[in-house]
Amino acid sequence: MPLHTGPAKPAERPSTVNPFYGEADPVSGMTEAPPQHRLPEAPLPPATAYQLVHDELMLDGNSRLNLATFVTTWMEPQAGVLMAECRDKNMIDKDEYPRTAELERRCVAMLADLWNAPDPAAAVGCSTTGSSEACMLAGMALKRRWAQRNADRYPGARPNLVMGVNVQVCWEKFCSFWEVEMRQVPMEGDRFHLDPQAAAELCDENTIGVVGILGSTFDGSYEPIDELCAALDELQERTGLDIPVHVDGASGAMVAPFLDEHLRWDFRLPRVASINTSGHKYGLVYPGVGWALWRSAAELPEELVFRVNYLGGDMPTFALNFSRPGAQVVAQYYTFLRLGRAGFKAVQRTTRAVAMQLAERVAALGDFQLLTRGDELPVFAFTTATDVTAYDVFDVSRRMRENGWLVPAYTFPPHREDLSVLRVVCRNGFSSDLAELFVEDLERLLPELRRQSGPSTHDKGAATCFHH
Ligand SMILES: *Cc1c(COP(=O)(O)O)cnc(C)c1O
Repeated sequence: MPLHTGPAKPAERPSTVNPFYGEADPVSGMTEAPPQHRLPEAPLPPATAYQLVHDELMLDGNSRLNLATFVTTWMEPQAGVLMAECRDKNMIDKDEYPRTAELERRCVAMLADLWNAPDPAAAVGCSTTGSSEACMLAGMALKRRWAQRNADRYPGARPNLVMGVNVQVCWEKFCSFWEVEMRQVPMEGDRFHLDPQAAAELCDENTIGVVGILGSTFDGSYEPIDELCAALDELQERTGLDIPVHVDGASGAMVAPFLDEHLRWDFRLPRVASINTSGHKYGLVYPGVGWALWRSAAELPEELVFRVNYLGGDMPTFALNFSRPGAQVVAQYYTFLRLGRAGFKAVQRTTRAVAMQLAERVAALGDFQLLTRGDELPVFAFTTATDVTAYDVFDVSRRMRENGWLVPAYTFPPHREDLSVLRVVCRNGFSSDLAELFVEDLERLLPELRRQSGPSTHDKGAATCFHH
């Protein structure tokens, strides 16, 4: 969450309010707007409080038109009903809500099976608030296992974690919070994600693991997890170093099992120790749920596991939070039950088809060049063609916003800082009709953009939406 500071504006507020809230409402008799930055002295009737909050929120963007986010913005009404029924249940109260705990357990079992754990019954896993928490847990397990193997040198030796420069910000957080050196493989030319050989070269006796991303947030491409494992196998043969791999499948771990069955990225690869996903991305649940799974108990050091009461015994838990809502876990189970493999396949296939068609339509406009085509994650990144000098991607992002579309524009990391792109994330609920409207709006803008004398965005930092 942003770290907020005190009031940015003076505390005085206008003394005029909608009379419906005040004198025209004989009950509340409100004449002055309540303060916004300190607790009001007196209570408000619920209807008035509701109206004030509701009205302010009207200025938020429309989430369905938010093509920047990977997070679910539409679910069926039945899922909404179930979530409302469960919003009072605390996930940590396993003993009080044993059925919710059981649904979580079943979700873990289904994911272990989906991700081809050699022995699904031996796999261990848990729900989290999202992939960020799941990655913290997976990283902690890697670090602790390394520390156990190197008890004679640690503390003292400095652990490191190897990853591509394109990792999501949660890995920077992990390395900062848990004091692990972050070793990043840079981008090179048209390679926008990790290179397996370069990753293996960064490993040494203090490497706790390598993170492979199934679905880079920068361009939607899959990192080559099987080649990464092969490069690390080769490293082991040469040097004896046995480095585990964690797959950050925040998005792709809920896409690849349905659309790319033959791609080897999961527990089929013996070197993959753990996998995370965001239930609230292509797991199709509203924000607030992620999953972390380990191949077996051997990959998750027992000393990191805490126990809570459960039906007269105890239940092992692994989490950063204590209290957490149960509704999202219930909604995940609902989604699994509701769709099954065939349903998930149909949903993800449709989303990918929309992404690929839209990418083609954007390319056909002539002004743009695709980096990716939406054929891995249903996500594509594009930039302006080399002969386009009148405007840049930041202009496109800003002008599309006038039509309600939220499309982030951002600059790539070191080695490719010359490259700025736009990215479109297609999700269930972004239909081909909406995609068509998107292209029409983009096409309609082009004549005006082409008439510009040059890019009008000078402060690129300010122009860039947060794109993770
Ligand atoms: C979104 C994302 C994350 C963070 O996930 P949250 O569920 O938002 O915490 C981590 N890694 C990757 C690759 C992501 O796409």
